Amino acid sequence: MKPESCDACAACCKVLMLGITGMSGEDVQYFSTVGTVQGCMAVVPMRCKQLKDDKCSIYDTRPKKCHDFALGGPACIALRHALQLTLQETINSAAGIK
Ligand code: SF4
Ligand code: SF4
Repeated sequence: MKPESCDACAACCKVLMLGITGMSGEDVQYFSTVGTVQGCMAVVPMRCKQLKDDKCSIYDTRPKKCHDFALGGPACIALRHALQLTLQETINSAAGIK
């Protein structure tokens, strides 16, 4: 489902998504141990240090890659979909990263 706001999400600031197409079997195995592999993506907990209280602390000067990450765009939808089955586990794990 297409989200209408980022409220209570911040998922794209808490994980790293990597395409696994072309990766070696060893690399895919590695990412499956430190994260979750779903389809052609690996989702790895990796909380951005600029995320404070689930909000970007440098929002006005955030990197272009963050600025260009479109709410409701394909990457946003894919991320939310990828996290749907493992959201609690992944977010809990990410939250544990200082
Ligand atoms: S852009 Fe998408 S994934 Fe990122 S916080 Fe907003 S709704 Fe969540
Ligand atoms: S810089 Fe801000 S928008 Fe970009 S990942 Fe970090 S917290 Fe999220």
